[in-house]
Amino acid sequence: MTTGNACSVGVCSLMQIEQKQWDEEVLLDICNERDKNLIKKIPLSKREDHDAWFWFPDEKGCFTVKSCYRLLQGEVDAPYAKCVQVDTTCQWCRQDQETDVHVLFGCEIEIATWVAVDLQTSISILREDNVFDIIRRAFDRCNMEQCTLVVLICWSIWTRINKWVWEKINMSVFGIKAAALNILTEWKQAHEQKMTSGTGGAAPLAVRKWERPQD
Ligand SMILES: [Zn+2]
Repeated sequence: MTTGNACSVGVCSLMQIEQKQWDEEVLLDICNERDKNLIKKIPLSKREDHDAWFWFPDEKGCFTVKSCYRLLQGEVDAPYAKCVQVDTTCQWCRQDQETDVHVLFGCEIEIATWVAVDLQTSISILREDNVFDIIRRAFDRCNMEQCTLVVLICWSIWTRINKWVWEKINMSVFGIKAAALNILTEWKQAHEQKMTSGTGGAAPLAVRKWERPQD
């Protein structure tokens, strides 16, 4: 922030009234270019949420004497214990903690994605599961092609999260599914080309190159 008055302004003052987006004019007025760009990268939930108190030493945000005691004893090993305030709630649904299990399998858009590819019965989350447990159980239930799809959907979901958080690009369930299926199709074609190399098979695939993310 570049002005002393900014400290009396709430975060909601930086958003357009009744809308879920940052107010460019306000940001331009009170922030320098660096801050403005950083703020614009912060995703805004599409849900109608209200501000609420959150006790950071507790995973669910609830104040307890026990958590307070642990904090004072230095037993809380997390960024917030170092006075770095980190919102660990899922930025998409605001319904649960943003764990790897939640963002890959438990969040609402991911559940819809697994349904869209007809793998919802293969993906089950048991208490205390980690990602490896869930994928291993899915592999036990799936054939080879479905196993491949499980991995590609995980990759596509991860891509969606990065696009949404860092580029403000919102992929739909259809987009997540399409990205995974496209890779699967290309992999099959490449595999077939390898098997028939030298026999004038399909046209070469476009070369994919990794690119450094924009700052
Ligand atoms: Zn979520």
